[in-house]
Amino acid sequence: MTRRGVAILGSTGSIGTATLRVIARHADMFRVVALTAFENASLLREQGEAVRPDYIGIVNPNGDSSAEWATGPDCLIEAASLPAVDIVVNAIVGAAGLQATLAALRAGKRVALANKESLVMGGDFVLSACDEGGGEIVPVDSEHSAILQCIGTRPSSEVSRVILTASGGPFRDWDADRISRATIDDALNHPTWRMGRKITVDSATLANKALEVIEAHYLFGLPYDRIDVVVHPQSIIHSYVEFVDGSVIAQIGFPNMELPILYALTHPHRVVDPAVRPFDPTSASPLTFGPVDMDRFPALALGIQAGAAGGVAPVVFNAANEAAVCLFLDGVIGFAEIPRAIASALAATSALPSGTLAELIFADAAARSHVREHNANPVSEHACP
Ligand code: NAD
Ligand code: MG
Repeated sequence: MTRRGVAILGSTGSIGTATLRVIARHADMFRVVALTAFENASLLREQGEAVRPDYIGIVNPNGDSSAEWATGPDCLIEAASLPAVDIVVNAIVGAAGLQATLAALRAGKRVALANKESLVMGGDFVLSACDEGGGEIVPVDSEHSAILQCIGTRPSSEVSRVILTASGGPFRDWDADRISRATIDDALNHPTWRMGRKITVDSATLANKALEVIEAHYLFGLPYDRIDVVVHPQSIIHSYVEFVDGSVIAQIGFPNMELPILYALTHPHRVVDPAVRPFDPTSASPLTFGPVDMDRFPALALGIQAGAAGGVAPVVFNAANEAAVCLFLDGVIGFAEIPRAIASALAATSALPSGTLAELIFADAAARSHVREHNANPVSEHACP
């Protein structure tokens, strides 16, 4: 059997390194053809020595690069389009992942998509690139992988609703006043998942769940009134699908991103993976569920409203959130300023046009400038994009 070629974009991150572990266990099926990273040259070099890919790219070499490496942001598109690549694992964080998703789909690749921001920013453009290029999007996000697995080969006309589970993040039981005083360390202390810093903060504001609702809308073609969210602190049920006859199917397992990553590589097939911890209902017990509280987590409501409003709203929600999270992690703004900055950017940009990709990218930049101008300390420089 010929091995399928894989490009891992964002190989030095949480999903990128997990993907390398998964592929190392399935080296008979997959070969790493390309690796890219933002700036962690030393880890990228180590990974390159271990898997010997054809292509290595670094966006920001900071003077530490190897002669044969490609450099600059174009390396993402180059790696995503290489002829030897069958599957592009897009594990880049943030809006920086969009162009690579588009390029991979236009080149007819399977995109194993962790970078949900691609779909939130440019959902319609991503879906058309997929149609035009003959590519395919298979989600890595655990909730969307669960939904895909629950739907299986059933036609979408049989799906009545999806229910995304949310851990509730570290502030699930905190009152609004305490949440508003949360520190960076508090926000980075996620109860069930170890992930990159941006998505960890998004999981504390619940902006991540809003991004996932929008992601589900595009992936499964469902209107927003058929996508629900329930808080499930144990992160054992990864999501549910309700069918038109009232039957509900869930996908279940101990939280570990290696499983949805493997499934995104092998879909629609399943392969043996000895590293997966066998499921044990007794030790997973009890499983509990509760409603989401939009008042304590305003970013969730803002994001779902932005998705339903369409136009520039989703791209602005995503960009304003990214800029605000960056300022929060830099210690410039408090935790409660994140949803305020998003709301303010949404209000300020609502009249911008959204008909072309260039217009969406303009709106993304406008939202970031708005957040910086209204929140950054003018005497200090910030590297937040
Ligand atoms: P991370 O911060 O750990 O890693 C991000 C990767 O992207 C790094 O390799 C970094 O070098 C690269 N990168 C950052 N900025 C870049 C830029 N401007 N250009 C090119 N590359 C850049 O993040 P992560 O936790 O691995 O998350 C990656 C994506 O996967 C995010 O979209 C996140 O929402 C999604 N996701 C992550 C998890 C998880 O468990 N970590 C789960 C579901 C979805
Ligand atoms: Mg998720």
